[in-house]
Amino acid sequence: MDFNLTSEQQLFQKTVRQFCDENLAPRSREIDTNMCIPDDLLKGMADMGLLGLTIPEKYGGPGGDVTMATLGAMEIGRADISMATAVFYLLEAGWSFILAKYGGEEVCNEVLPKVAAGEAFLGVSTTEPGGGSDIANVKTTARKEGDQWILNGEKTFISGVNEAIRLGGGHLTVARTAPGRTHRDMGFFYVPIDAPGITTGKLENMGRMGISTCWIKFDETPIPQKYMLGDEGKGFYHLMDGFNTARIFVAAACIGCGERVLDMGMEYVKQREAFGVPLAKFEGVQFKVAELYAKLEMVKWQILKGAWMTDEHNANGMFTMNDIAKCVAIGKLYAPEYSFDIVKEVMQWYGAGSYTTEYDLEMGMRGIMSYLVGAEGALNIMRIILARELLGKDFLPYKK
Ligand SMILES: Cc1cc2nc3c(=O)[nH]c(=O)nc-3n(C[C@H](O)[C@H](O)[C@H](O)COP(=O)(O)OP(=O)(O)OC[C@H]3O[C@@H](n4cnc5c(N)ncnc54)[C@H](O)[C@@H]3O)c2cc1C
Repeated sequence: MDFNLTSEQQLFQKTVRQFCDENLAPRSREIDTNMCIPDDLLKGMADMGLLGLTIPEKYGGPGGDVTMATLGAMEIGRADISMATAVFYLLEAGWSFILAKYGGEEVCNEVLPKVAAGEAFLGVSTTEPGGGSDIANVKTTARKEGDQWILNGEKTFISGVNEAIRLGGGHLTVARTAPGRTHRDMGFFYVPIDAPGITTGKLENMGRMGISTCWIKFDETPIPQKYMLGDEGKGFYHLMDGFNTARIFVAAACIGCGERVLDMGMEYVKQREAFGVPLAKFEGVQFKVAELYAKLEMVKWQILKGAWMTDEHNANGMFTMNDIAKCVAIGKLYAPEYSFDIVKEVMQWYGAGSYTTEYDLEMGMRGIMSYLVGAEGALNIMRIILARELLGKDFLPYKK
């Protein structure tokens, strides 16, 4: 066992921290207020190799592995605790990785260089008005006609739709390729947002305001065969592969937010006095510092383990997808919760001031909440994954 980051990973972490401290953290309030990540910031991130971090070099990307992208997500979540920039970053890192893994040369050559250059956005589109957890029950259909697929249906709560409209790009979209209700009849497609027959509309969120969340409707939308990822009927599995990776990055971004807020809180309680002494002198505060730090540290190593397992799986065929899903589910289950607990506690240390927009804390609370209500997988779904791996598939609640 070796818990050290390599010298390359340490250098990457240091460089990204410096970039984020100088360019991202000072602008997080602006991003939240203007509901947009500025183009010059995206350009700076692209120049740093931070967009589509996992995109292989042959497609113009930096060719980072999952561990590297996880370290990046922690830094970005730390700098913009509203989570908006982290969402932009992690969707691209997670789903570019899947497009490069399962997509053909043509679609990869068309999409990935633009994502890496900040000239296109790439996200994922699975959730439908009828629900997001039961993916095998997706209603959007894909009908084969000649060398193209015709999509009909509706997706909702999809991140980055207006960004794809503004910059170009689209979403990896899951659709049913045969009637029924099984995960074996699903395809996974790259769907450009400007494809014919697509209409979209924005949902008004409570947080992570810098990135849009929208519905997308498909009305006889033609998608060429070259945009299908992997094999027909394997879409569900490619999607699950992507969720494993994207959930690592989500958890990492939450950890970044939690670490930054705990740092802010510790600084504050050392200088703010009550009853003639700094707040940090009170055992009630000290015990909370210790507890919150301990929980965050535990889940951070869990997530780094998930990233390392994924890299070992990809490079050396070690671990099964289920092994990885089990490890990652623990991280996605607890990283948002522990980070939220930190924000909630630190807001109390700050007292009334934390309830104002003078401090970034309320932005963090609104951002992290998105991961507690379900973004990148509801918490009960993480519990179901864990129980499935521990008790066996026969005990899945929905297995007949
Ligand atoms: C800000 C934001 C951005 C998002 N971005 C995207 C995106 O880019 N792309 C995308 O595809 N989706 C996106 N989503 C949607 C997200 O993936 C879904 O919220 C999630 O999958 C849960 O689906 P749902 O909200 O429909 O809840 P439901 O599936 O209706 O679940 C509701 C509740 O029931 C619980 N539940 C469900 N099934 C079970 C069960 N078997 N046992 C016990 N409890 C259960 C869940 O844990 C949850 O608490 C986003 C969501 C948010 C909030």
